[in-house]
Amino acid sequence: MSGLYIHIPFCERKCSYCAFYSVVSNDWKKQERFFQTLEKELSGLPPDFAPETVFIGGGTPTAPGFQALEKFLPSLGKFRPMEFSVEVNPGTVDEAKLALLKRSGVNRLSVGVQSFDFQCLETLGRIHSAEQAEAAFRLARRVGFENMSVDLMFGVPGQTMQMLESDLDRALALGPEHIAIYNLMYEAGTPMEARLDRLDEDLEREMYDRIRARLNAAGFVHYEISNFAKPGFECRHNLLYWTGGEYIGCGPAAHSHWNGVRWANVSDLDDYCANGPRREFEETLGPEAKERETRVMGLRLLAGVKVSSSGWKHLGECFQALEKQGLLVIEGRRVRLSEEALFVSDSVFAELV
Ligand code: SF4
Repeated sequence: MSGLYIHIPFCERKCSYCAFYSVVSNDWKKQERFFQTLEKELSGLPPDFAPETVFIGGGTPTAPGFQALEKFLPSLGKFRPMEFSVEVNPGTVDEAKLALLKRSGVNRLSVGVQSFDFQCLETLGRIHSAEQAEAAFRLARRVGFENMSVDLMFGVPGQTMQMLESDLDRALALGPEHIAIYNLMYEAGTPMEARLDRLDEDLEREMYDRIRARLNAAGFVHYEISNFAKPGFECRHNLLYWTGGEYIGCGPAAHSHWNGVRWANVSDLDDYCANGPRREFEETLGPEAKERETRVMGLRLLAGVKVSSSGWKHLGECFQALEKQGLLVIEGRRVRLSEEALFVSDSVFAELV
């Protein structure tokens, strides 16, 4: 399996927690230059590259104007992927844009709601209201999308358990096929980093347990630390990342992992447009490094990961120590995070790299 990721680097406003690369700009000339460079990058992809999944993320893929998107999207038609996802910000879509996505072969939407609570949306610096998010979701359904994710966050400063319960109620009432719900991170260099009113870790853990219980009871399969899906609606593109699959990323700041080489495009829109997609980072992964990476990524999945004999030779003792601490479960040649470890997965991964 292989995938294509496309990074659209425009946003209407920067959210207070966001560390992804994007610029705030409505300059249509800039957008036009970007899409021209992106099309050139896409036309230079290896001739045998036939991605089963395409994922357009960002940034805000729905931020550019309708005309720019209408001109660009047909250039992806040749790929005919099995899964074609686009991230949608409810503050930047209308019926015309959603219908354009549908016509262009998009068959999965990931709707960035983050919260339905006014106070949380303010804290996160989102550009839309809860009502706009609900309206965008319902509009997408009317346009014909049958595979939709609601993306949420928990652990937002000021958020209470009742507010979280209400977010889950409203998300479930929309009837999505998939819910991604991430614990807020205080990323370096973001305005959120300076907030001192962070939630207590015990409360965050309680919230995580509540999320798992509520979504399991609603028929969702918890398949990755932060992702829940109705059976058969797991995000194939993200599964590719978690199972060591290969992918090529296009656009500024996009990452790739192809033929044993990992690289990142330059994280600067002007540089990208002026000089093309030059690489600001590149490394060749040897078989051991590749296996290490696949192991840690695979442990994000609740099903865990199968470990090779050389992996057991290097890490067998470490696995056993983590099992004794109640953080790993060993089943034959497979290892997986224990229920206890899901909330503190990063500390387990740190032991295994
Ligand atoms: S809309 Fe998405 S990419 Fe843009 S600033 Fe907000 S979180 Fe970041």
